[in-house]
Amino acid sequence: MKLREHEGKRIFADAGIPVPAGRVVQSVDELDDLSSFGDRVVLKAQVDVGGRGKAGGVVICGVDEAPARAAELFSKTIKGLAVSELLVEECLSIAHEYYCAVLIDRSTRQPVVLFTEAGGVEIEETARQDPDRIRRFDISPLLTELPAFAVRDLVGPAPKALGPVVSALYRVFLEKDALLAEINPLVVLDDGRVFAADAKVIVDDNAIARQGFRQNRDLTEREAEAERHGFSYVELDGEIGVVGNGAGLTMATLDLIEHYGLRAANFLDVGGGADRERVAHAVRLLAGSPGVRVIIVNLLGGITRCDEVAQGIIDAGVSQRVIVRMAGTNEAEGRALLTEHGYEMYDSMDRAVGAAAEVKV
Ligand code: GDP
Ligand code: MN
Repeated sequence: MKLREHEGKRIFADAGIPVPAGRVVQSVDELDDLSSFGDRVVLKAQVDVGGRGKAGGVVICGVDEAPARAAELFSKTIKGLAVSELLVEECLSIAHEYYCAVLIDRSTRQPVVLFTEAGGVEIEETARQDPDRIRRFDISPLLTELPAFAVRDLVGPAPKALGPVVSALYRVFLEKDALLAEINPLVVLDDGRVFAADAKVIVDDNAIARQGFRQNRDLTEREAEAERHGFSYVELDGEIGVVGNGAGLTMATLDLIEHYGLRAANFLDVGGGADRERVAHAVRLLAGSPGVRVIIVNLLGGITRCDEVAQGIIDAGVSQRVIVRMAGTNEAEGRALLTEHGYEMYDSMDRAVGAAAEVKV
């Protein structure tokens, strides 16, 4: 679960990482007294998306303009998400932006600490164009503190005042069962003070109860519905809806869609033993996404019965083309049902996706 910026910053502050003075507001009315912030403020939409600044979710303005600019932000959506909260902060006078993060490296299967002078911009960009500028330190999670030499090597020629922040960020990562604890930008001001200007903390979903967090709040309508049904669902922005069972098969379907030069609208894994009703819910959910013109259902029958799936697809009765690939238990019965109702069914997923590629808009 990704925490909101202000939640991350509260955790940082508790761990001794300096954060800008700020408060969270839910309406423009709460912006009446900003005198404590100085002349300028930063208004930051609290939405769980990356690249929020570029998408217009971060506004730096004079205190006088703040109510009008805040009203604008509240009326906007940032990458499809409504803005229900703003973080209002003092505007920092930034001399340099750094980047620091602790995350799990999947290849070494342990935490890695990253640091670079090229902060502020997206780290993926730096990793592509200038990988040598990112310093890294792999660490066993059994070490509860970063060794001093590691902090020194990570910070390198950057101001020494950043060292304690790097150490504290590693402690936050461990204590919060995080998959990612990231500060971008980690800033040094003209006067030499150091602040976490942004906060991104992703807590392992398996640790949410232990950490006392409430599950996912910032979901789109469809994501919330998918969660209610227990689907693994991720929204993408293509035109081919995908229903699969099993993460591997569903991912393979997405790869094949890409291979055919198409773009998937989502990832949806209905899970094991999908019955008629679950399949109907899944297909209807995708049919309701804007831009979906074809739906590919790619299911392997094991506990899942192909005739149940076929019934679910027929029940859903959506207006888009639904192309099916099924194999396994009661396959022949499933095929008969689908054919009878005018649906296409293929044996191989390659042919199913190929058929989707032929569908004219
Ligand atoms: P993100 O786009 O969601 O990562 O939002 P950030 O919180 O990282 O802000 C984006 C950019 O806004 C930062 O890299 C800074 O350049 C700028 N910014 C954020 N806060 C301040 C501030 O207090 N003062 C100044 N001058 N710039 C800021
Ligand atoms: Mn940022």
